[in-house]
Amino acid sequence: MQPGRGVVVVVRTRHRGWSRELDSFVVGLPKADLHVHLEGALRPATVLDLDRRGGGQLAGMDEQQLSELFRFRDFRHFADLYSTCTTVFRAPEDFARAVAELAEDLARQGVVYAEVTCSAITHHRDRGLPFDEVVDGLWAGARTALRDSGVVVRFVLDHVRDLSLDDCWLTAQWCVLGRDRGVVALGLGGYEPGRPASLFADAVRWAIGRGVPFVPHAGEAAGADAVRDALAFAPPRLGHGFRAAEDPAVVGELLDRGTVLEVCLTSNLRTGVVADLAEHPVRALLARGVPVVLGSDDPVLFGSTVVGEYEQAVTGLGVEPDDLPVLARTSLESVLAGPEVRDALVAARDRPAASQPGEP
Ligand SMILES: [Zn+2]
Repeated sequence: MQPGRGVVVVVRTRHRGWSRELDSFVVGLPKADLHVHLEGALRPATVLDLDRRGGGQLAGMDEQQLSELFRFRDFRHFADLYSTCTTVFRAPEDFARAVAELAEDLARQGVVYAEVTCSAITHHRDRGLPFDEVVDGLWAGARTALRDSGVVVRFVLDHVRDLSLDDCWLTAQWCVLGRDRGVVALGLGGYEPGRPASLFADAVRWAIGRGVPFVPHAGEAAGADAVRDALAFAPPRLGHGFRAAEDPAVVGELLDRGTVLEVCLTSNLRTGVVADLAEHPVRALLARGVPVVLGSDDPVLFGSTVVGEYEQAVTGLGVEPDDLPVLARTSLESVLAGPEVRDALVAARDRPAASQPGEP
């Protein structure tokens, strides 16, 4: 199945409003969140609780103060917060709890499947957490998520660009070893400029050769060249990737390959890579038929939700409400959990009688 291939999503210049009916319609659409980071999805109350157990770096703060602190200001502030959220993970149970709570939050929005990115290498490098403890915890969380929230959860372990090729090798090996505990892909995050995916080519190709697809972030803070560089690894999806629009040849390559772009609109606004959704490059890509899925990225740090991303698509990008089911369907067709899981998700989506979106 080629996800969403050749489906052109209509983008208008006269933007539509949003309504309670549309909101309920989107909640009722079975969909996947394929771009969400565990460390950026930790509830403030959980950060405080885990922090208390681990020695209390945030001592004296209450949930309200932490929520204030969590409002995105700039990249530096974001990096500090991200590292605060990362340091509170100390044991397998912490990962399990974070996954189960994220699944609860996603289930309320009609998300039936999530591919959650975890920077296991950071937990290992900073606090010496062994790979098995991280992945066992994640997998325990996935089992709870399915039992209690009905959400199927799988994992992407990402390498962080600032770290070394040796670290990337470790993550690549963990991805291969973690396949029996829900790991479905190798990711690549961190600050993009000057650190293209090809710097880590040997480790990435080794993982691909052992059946682990590569789904890097590319073409967010760096331009179309970074997308071209990443496409050399035949990724089924790219994190962000929208700056491909700067080079028609790269757009052509995306179309030829059927590469799916994981677009995170609220994140793009908060980080400032896009000033106004009305000028977001993804509008042109949607109109060309490039397959796109919407992701919440770092929901707690950015104040984003999956349903909110659909809202932004309509009110900011100008996507027609009638096309929202296309985006939801593409998300289910683009999961990396294997054909059995994917086909079951798509079949389950087709079962209930879907109503049409209400007029705003
Ligand atoms: Zn991301």
